[in-house]
Amino acid sequence: MDDNSAIVIGGGLVGSLCACLLAERGYKVTLYEKREDIRKLTASKGRSINLALSHRGRKALRLIGLEDEVLKNAIPMSGRLLHSEKGDTESVKYDPVSNQCIYSVGRNFLNQALLDAAQKYTNLKMFFNHKVVDVDFNKSTIEVTNCMTNDSIITSADFIIGADGAFSVLRGFMQKMPRFNFSQDFIDHGYLELCVPAKRGDQLRPNHLHIWPRGQFMMIALPNQDNSWTVTLFMPFEKFAAIDDRRKLIEFFESTFPDALPLIGEQELESMYFKNAPSALVSIKCGQYDMGNRFLIIGDAAHAMVPFYGQGMNAGFEDCTLLNELLNQTQDNVSKIIKLFTQKRQKDAFAICDLAMYNYIEMRDLVTKPTYKLRKIVDGTLAKLWPEIWVPLYNSVSFSHMEYSKCVENKSWQDEVLLYGVLITIIIFAILILVLF
Ligand SMILES: Cc1cc2nc3c(=O)[nH]c(=O)nc-3n(C[C@H](O)[C@H](O)[C@H](O)COP(=O)(O)OP(=O)(O)OC[C@H]3O[C@@H](n4cnc5c(N)ncnc54)[C@H](O)[C@@H]3O)c2cc1C
Repeated sequence: MDDNSAIVIGGGLVGSLCACLLAERGYKVTLYEKREDIRKLTASKGRSINLALSHRGRKALRLIGLEDEVLKNAIPMSGRLLHSEKGDTESVKYDPVSNQCIYSVGRNFLNQALLDAAQKYTNLKMFFNHKVVDVDFNKSTIEVTNCMTNDSIITSADFIIGADGAFSVLRGFMQKMPRFNFSQDFIDHGYLELCVPAKRGDQLRPNHLHIWPRGQFMMIALPNQDNSWTVTLFMPFEKFAAIDDRRKLIEFFESTFPDALPLIGEQELESMYFKNAPSALVSIKCGQYDMGNRFLIIGDAAHAMVPFYGQGMNAGFEDCTLLNELLNQTQDNVSKIIKLFTQKRQKDAFAICDLAMYNYIEMRDLVTKPTYKLRKIVDGTLAKLWPEIWVPLYNSVSFSHMEYSKCVENKSWQDEVLLYGVLITIIIFAILILVLF
């Protein structure tokens, strides 16, 4: 086996970025992706799917020199635009103090850009239509099948990384090993992707992530480069099932999302809604990400999360940044790195999985409550006065590189300060009233 060889399983967003980073470091990299090369596919069924990119993802893209190109093809979103049931809208900035924004970027565009970047390394070979089907931790080998010919090979490398998504095959084999802890939660809500076509895209206020919060469920829309908007409806599965004919669907939209219905279009809504079944949302936590001396899982394979903080990909990209830092610190000592990775990453991965769950409640419900708005004002004011000390939760998650677990600790500390602040104010008022009367 060659020195410094690596295998990356999965040529999705995280796998292709990880492969680039390893190739950049001089590893001889082999990437196996079970699907066809997406760059050869014609535009995916005419619809765009987009993702919110923020600081953590940008940092990893910067490491391989791709940040500027990606941002040039992304649309900044400086805040949420909340749509009431009456059709009124309210803009809530993500960062009223320094106007930082997140970016809407096309999933296919980003994956293609990463694969193009990977293609440029002479020490990186990509095999599409190649699926990992077996793993032997004792021999440190994997079995890869060519999906076109069904031929199989058994292969190995110094470093074997599974970036093969939420239903990772590598993790599946890890789960069979003794003392591997794992939990998987499917939430009761699913999602369905809809679209506002480009011809009506101008009617939605630009540079925002649009939200129709409706208490128990919600709809969101993110802008695409071609002027269309990707709309995602998140709802309990039983509610999806109850809307089972055209009349019920149109009535539901007329009463719940009256301003969105003409933008999506009745005909288009009907065909999109009944064409696909709603998809499931899963949150995954693992007790460790390493196995043996050379196997590691990253990205969704290690910590899939519900999408409500827009952090799944960002966290996966941050895994790559951490991996790169650990490789630097340990002079590429793989067996040490994979253990350090588990130690360093686990509490942060758990924290962002939990934050993502919490954010669904914030987005679909709390954003409409006066207490939420008051907290936003207080956070904004304190952040303006003490920008180094008072970093609101959303900012620490989306606009900083603070460890996710520290973001949670930071928020708890702020909650305590505010609680004591309110209590002290009440006591002072009570004393004043007593003194006066
Ligand atoms: C509705 C929705 C909205 C989201 N929005 C955001 C957002 O706004 N911002 C954000 O940061 N994140 C978002 N996410 C999360 C984000 O999509 C994922 O975190 C990200 O795609 C994970 O990338 P990955 O490369 O780890 O996994 P995947 O993207 O799942 O890639 C895994 C790859 O591995 C390949 N593969 C699987 N098995 C094998 C095998 N046996 N052999 C070889 N190859 C294999 C697959 O074909 C695939 O290409 C969202 C997710 C959803 C569902």
